[in-house]
Amino acid sequence: MAIAAEYAICVIYVFVFVVGLVVGSFLNVCIYRLPRGLSIVSPRSRCPGCLSPIKAWQNIPVLSYLLLGGKCRNCGSSISIRYPMVELLNAFLYLGLYYKFGPEWYPALYMFIASVLVVITFIDLEFQLIPNVITLPVMLTGIVLSTFVLPDPYGFGEPLGLKGSLIGLFTGGGIFYAIQVLSLLILKKEGMGGGDTKMMAMLGAYIGWKSILITIFVGSLAGSIVGVALIVIKGRGRDSRIPFGPFLAFGALTAIFFGRKIVGLYLGTPEMLQ
Ligand SMILES: [Zn+2]
Repeated sequence: MAIAAEYAICVIYVFVFVVGLVVGSFLNVCIYRLPRGLSIVSPRSRCPGCLSPIKAWQNIPVLSYLLLGGKCRNCGSSISIRYPMVELLNAFLYLGLYYKFGPEWYPALYMFIASVLVVITFIDLEFQLIPNVITLPVMLTGIVLSTFVLPDPYGFGEPLGLKGSLIGLFTGGGIFYAIQVLSLLILKKEGMGGGDTKMMAMLGAYIGWKSILITIFVGSLAGSIVGVALIVIKGRGRDSRIPFGPFLAFGALTAIFFGRKIVGLYLGTPEMLQ
């Protein structure tokens, strides 16, 4: 009996991982097409080099990349390592979220937001932009879902609620909007993109204001460390622009995974520490 139960748990983990890979494959499509203003539904995937359509067997996450040796079968142009990386990253995030939150309904919502963060990260790294076509609709779903299914990350099973969602939205969006306005006024240059502001408003609507503060703290810390490291190692200029979206995504994931523990330790609330 115990062996059967362990076997079943194993099957579920494999299933979650495979779902993560398959969704990751779709995220690659979003990363390529959204910043270029293309539809994510049609046409079928093509090689960016020779535009030949990609057959179903060449579209299996990670495996196809390995089988094809990272090259297009038709024209031989190399396929970016980003494709299997995004698939694996998304699969491990799903695995981690399932491990952390268990067989509940709301981890699926965190999986959704984690996937959104993966897409934002790779688009921002390549294009230094965070498309409104992602942040605005996702922000709206956060507001709607908060009233009944999105949990309060620091509560005990109750939903985040419309009020919690809106306070989160205005905390995230407001702090970043203030930085944006102030840096334009004082430094006479854009310190923060409007995309970052909308991304933070979107996140706030999902995870609430406490998680937003953790996101900003962790994101800024990680951003400063990497920024200084780039200046020292690569001799990058102080003025060179480093996209902030990936660091905020890292901060938000830290808040989703460990926010409750962090706040529990801070407030000395033992029941928040399990
Ligand atoms: Zn090709």
